[in-house]
Amino acid sequence: MTVRVRFAPSPTGMFHVGGARSALQNWIFAKQQGGVFVLRIEDTDAARNRPEWTEGILSALDWIGIARGSYEGPYFQSSYAGEHRAAAQRLYEGGRAYYCDCTREDVQARTGPQQRGYDGFCRDRGLEPGEGRALRFRTPDEGETVVVDLVRGEPTFENKLIEDFVIARGDGSPVFLLANVVDDMSMGITHVIRAEEHLPNTPKQQLLWDALGVKPPVWAHVPVVVNEKRQKLSKRRDKVALEAYRDEGYLADAMRNYLMLLGWAPSGDREIVPWSVIEEEFRLDEVNPSPAFFDEKKLRAFNGDYIRALPVADFVEACRPWLTGTGTIAPPPWQPDEFDPAAFAAVAPLAQTRIAVLSEIVPNVDFLFLADPLIDEAAWAKAMKEGAADLLDAAVVAFEALESWDAESLKATLEAVGAERGLKLGKAQAPVRVAVTGRTVGLPLFESLEVLGRDRTLTRLRAARVRLV
Ligand code: GLU
Repeated sequence: MTVRVRFAPSPTGMFHVGGARSALQNWIFAKQQGGVFVLRIEDTDAARNRPEWTEGILSALDWIGIARGSYEGPYFQSSYAGEHRAAAQRLYEGGRAYYCDCTREDVQARTGPQQRGYDGFCRDRGLEPGEGRALRFRTPDEGETVVVDLVRGEPTFENKLIEDFVIARGDGSPVFLLANVVDDMSMGITHVIRAEEHLPNTPKQQLLWDALGVKPPVWAHVPVVVNEKRQKLSKRRDKVALEAYRDEGYLADAMRNYLMLLGWAPSGDREIVPWSVIEEEFRLDEVNPSPAFFDEKKLRAFNGDYIRALPVADFVEACRPWLTGTGTIAPPPWQPDEFDPAAFAAVAPLAQTRIAVLSEIVPNVDFLFLADPLIDEAAWAKAMKEGAADLLDAAVVAFEALESWDAESLKATLEAVGAERGLKLGKAQAPVRVAVTGRTVGLPLFESLEVLGRDRTLTRLRAARVRLV
């Protein structure tokens, strides 16, 4: 039997990193089993869906390596409403479901506010279908439902504790639980790999599979993803959108490697491994069922390692969207014709070892392309203390006289200027750096000056000097 898995996101917001993790796990499992990955967009909640969210999911999947055209689908759940209704009808006709006209208030009046769930009042009333009547599944009174779960063993649920749950609303529309099962069934899904949040739905869904006469899939409920306070990652509180990480300059390779470490690790005490190793070694039954901590700091450090490992030419290429402002990435502060690829190539290796996300390239190199540096006023106040004017004057004179404009000579020169004033190099550098780059931190100063060139360096030193008068 061919393994068929599916990833079934609802397009109700940005694409959640936890979803991306589940998608990758499905993807790898399918690949290992020689199976098929199906993408199904669960778009039945018309009030919350937006087409741009669907497009966001497709492009984010593409970015992490689940390329359009290399999977089956996307299918859209809303196209199968007829099948969902037919299944509800079949369950009704087979006596597995019944109509119910109880309101929530009716149920609570009978059971008291404490008791949760439906009390089965309409089970044997034999109500006909009708406006405002919900269809409820008649759960078995006895026995248990054993869920075979690759991550969690065999969670077992007593049937008598499962309420007669709604499968179609009063307006006749089937609910998520049923639509999801019917689609999995008609798409021939053999393994359902999804987030732990859905585990409580699973015994109900498995009962539906049984009632519809089809062998249920094997389940795998992968751990919920939490923040440092052990709270479930939420879009209101945490940075959860895969697109946000992409636009900030996380590398797809780093991101997908990190996502696969949520609840699992490759062999040999390693974390950074080639994707091919993950594809080979990943096992669903090795996934730790406890909540997985999404550690943004660690991801950042991870990304820095991936950036440093790139060949310089690839790094230069990878920076391009931030240097030009492409798609959803904000444009840089310089004009396109101010950008100088040769100057960028000259400093790229210096920047590569210093940034953790690609968007940080912009503040590191903007001084090279802008006519005037963007002065950070706090940096200015810090660097331009007493003696700064005198030091800048002396630096201008000494730099003007330099025969060769190279990093080494520039360094020796400023060192000497500083020494004459009893200043160590670090202290002597500060006013020069702020005058030329606008900041107190950045790429190595003398290499930066070499690339910036004599004229522009002297112009900026003089401009700073004027401001100090
Ligand atoms: N559409 C559901 C969700 O986004 C997924 C349900 C499932 O994977 O079974 O949470």
